[in-house]
Amino acid sequence: MEATRSARPLVSVVAPCYNEHEVLREFHARVSAACRPLTGSYEIVLVDDGSKDGTWAIIETLAESDPHVVGVQLLRNHGHQLAATAGLHIASGQRVMLIDADLQDPPELLGDMMRLMDEGADVVYGQRAARAGETWFKRATAAGFYRLLTRLTDVSIPRDTGDFRLMSRRVVDTFLLMPERQRFIRGMVSWIGGRQVALPYERHARYAGTSKYPLSKMIRFATDAITSFSTVPLRLAVWVGLATASFSMLLLLYALYQWTQNVVVAGWASIICAVAFFGGLQMLILGVFGEYLGRLVHEAKGRPLFMVKAIRAGRRRHEVPSH
Ligand code: UDP
Ligand code: MG
Repeated sequence: MEATRSARPLVSVVAPCYNEHEVLREFHARVSAACRPLTGSYEIVLVDDGSKDGTWAIIETLAESDPHVVGVQLLRNHGHQLAATAGLHIASGQRVMLIDADLQDPPELLGDMMRLMDEGADVVYGQRAARAGETWFKRATAAGFYRLLTRLTDVSIPRDTGDFRLMSRRVVDTFLLMPERQRFIRGMVSWIGGRQVALPYERHARYAGTSKYPLSKMIRFATDAITSFSTVPLRLAVWVGLATASFSMLLLLYALYQWTQNVVVAGWASIICAVAFFGGLQMLILGVFGEYLGRLVHEAKGRPLFMVKAIRAGRRRHEVPSH
């Protein structure tokens, strides 16, 4: 891949796109307008994450007419985080900005991000000061999620940040060395360290189209984030086990006391309840183990993270079997 491109552009803008045909032209126009005053040396990497709505056709047209555009088509839908990873693999810029295609994050911030990086930052991440156009449910679940994540993980993952960020080549290269499948990009980049600077901004409503993150995907994203950055839920089992063991010892003491008082326990309901309760608890803990074990199995297989079907760069065309 590297050999086909002569020099690194100064900046690459990477956007994963899934069924975004309504926004892509506007996105391309606004990103180009944000890049042009800064430098002529930029590329826009648009990753089509197995869209079903003609997104790829638009990306192809854009790549035909604008030599700055690199279109990447994945073989199927891999999800936001893997599509972004594919884009980061292909981006060759000295700095890389990762941004959603739906224009919720303003590309115009590129200038400010570049300036902060000139001053020595390794990563400049957008921090959402306001979230327009999102339901109270999305805002509440997001707030709860970030709070939980901060409590459970050792890596400090800044609150109210998405994947909207500018990264130095050094950070991107390190990121690409991380092989895990369950990718929680903002956490992985925090883990890398270096000078990470926040840039507050207002998050807008989508330009067009609907969110591709239904509740089921959000829950999966949250479990991925927690299990790949924290083993606290595993250790929790130890504490719950100790607590229930102590509780049952107390019950035993109480039963012995009742026996000395010649009180005959008639009810069986309490026993059944306790059996059911502890049965449930054990299943729950097994489930937590299962979550980690299942992920371990996926990681152990070491399958490729994504498959590229085609790449369009300017008027050039490469067929790439896998990546
Ligand atoms: N996206 C993707 N693959 C998916 C789902 C989403 O590439 O399976 C892209 C989508 O096109 C957008 C970004 O990821 O550019 C964020 O998705 P979305 O705006 O739907 O999420 P939200 O902002 O609602 O959390
Ligand atoms: Mg969005």
